[in-house]
Amino acid sequence: MPSSARYVWTHAALTLALLAMAAAVAGAFGGTLAALVTFVAGMLLVYGYHLRSVQQLVEWTREPVGTPVPSARGTWNRVFADLNRRSRLSYEMREQLATSLERFRDASQAMPDGTLYLSADDRIEWMNHKAEQHFGLDAARDCGVPVTKLVRQPDFVRLMHGAEHGGPLVLQSDRKAGLTLMIQVVPFGDGQKMVVSRDISQLERLETMRRDFVANVSHELRTPLTVVIGFLETLVDGLEDFRPDEVQHYVRLALDQSVRMETLIEDLLTLAALESGARAAEHRVAVGPLVQDIAEDARLLSAGRHEVSLDIAAGDEDAALLGSAKELRSAFANLASNAVRYTPPGGKIRLSWRRVDGGAEFAVEDNGIGIEPRHIPRLTERFYRVDLGRSRESGGTGLGLAIVKHILSRHDAELHVESECGRGSRFSARFPAARLGPPPVRS
Ligand code: ADP
Repeated sequence: MPSSARYVWTHAALTLALLAMAAAVAGAFGGTLAALVTFVAGMLLVYGYHLRSVQQLVEWTREPVGTPVPSARGTWNRVFADLNRRSRLSYEMREQLATSLERFRDASQAMPDGTLYLSADDRIEWMNHKAEQHFGLDAARDCGVPVTKLVRQPDFVRLMHGAEHGGPLVLQSDRKAGLTLMIQVVPFGDGQKMVVSRDISQLERLETMRRDFVANVSHELRTPLTVVIGFLETLVDGLEDFRPDEVQHYVRLALDQSVRMETLIEDLLTLAALESGARAAEHRVAVGPLVQDIAEDARLLSAGRHEVSLDIAAGDEDAALLGSAKELRSAFANLASNAVRYTPPGGKIRLSWRRVDGGAEFAVEDNGIGIEPRHIPRLTERFYRVDLGRSRESGGTGLGLAIVKHILSRHDAELHVESECGRGSRFSARFPAARLGPPPVRS
């Protein structure tokens, strides 16, 4: 017999014995009636005590979970103490379970993927915030609703109906433009399912860019290559049919196309090196001599067709930039050569270096053909040209400004473009104060 039960029975036996003794004493002094009255009164007292304790117990059951059991005397004290212990234990277990569940929900909420828990009949039981965003759902409103009533895209419905195959399914969201999801269905428990959604829009964009890039490179190389092959085939088929000056003309044209391919490959290699993230060694680069060289190269490229000037603000002749001399030269030269190539003969090109807003700026201004505003945000995209014919004609690869943008961002600088169609453009590279080094030490 458990100790509590033994205690109750012992207590009852003792109470009965005490009552019997009290009745016997009363009987000795007052006769049988006194004994009977004493015994009945004692029994009533005991009955009242038990009734009161039962009432306390009933009242306690109506209190909120976790309320301690009231204290009592005698037998019920022991019973209440036992109940108290059990109720505390089960309360603590519930608390622990609630904490674990809360932690599990917090973890599911923090997941970068969307998660939907579905019942065996595909009703939503729970979802995290990401799932709300991905599927345009509302946890407060949509729990309990079959998921295929809310996400009705045919591919998704098919995936849900054949959930054992599980996906992954790549789905273009019909609720948010440009959102691409990868969706997987994972069965678990007793016919329940977990739907996991991942935002792969960025990956998709990169994949599209990669495909476009390969197509662009192939196209850019194929055009001059076709020309070279055409010339060579013509010459092979009938070299003797051509006069030496004609042969020389064709060979020169083929050479031009080969140089174009070489330039393109050089630009591609430069871009690849810049994108690989490997940092070139950085030094204090003397700006004065650098921009003078760039202005000289621009004059050579212009071959007298433009008026090229250089303006270094007074006191800035000794300025220095912290960075890679090779990369800075390449970026500045690209801006200057664009000005020459997109400014008709007779135009003016002005290169300048000055301090602005705590930083400094290298700018190239021209009064050339200018650019329509709608093209400006896209100029630094690889192979983006406003006028394909004009760019090719002038030896452009469509990669120059992409290279400039990369180089500038490696130097914490920004490219600013102001332009007006038919009036000219101003391209400026703005460097923060942190990139302005002390003047180089003269030897
Ligand atoms: P590209 O090799 O074609 O010159 P870039 O990346 O250097 O390629 O320039 C992208 C496009 O920006 C050019 O095709 C041209 O249309 C436009 N562009 C760049 N610089 C100028 C400028 N100074 N004036 C007018 N248009 C320009």
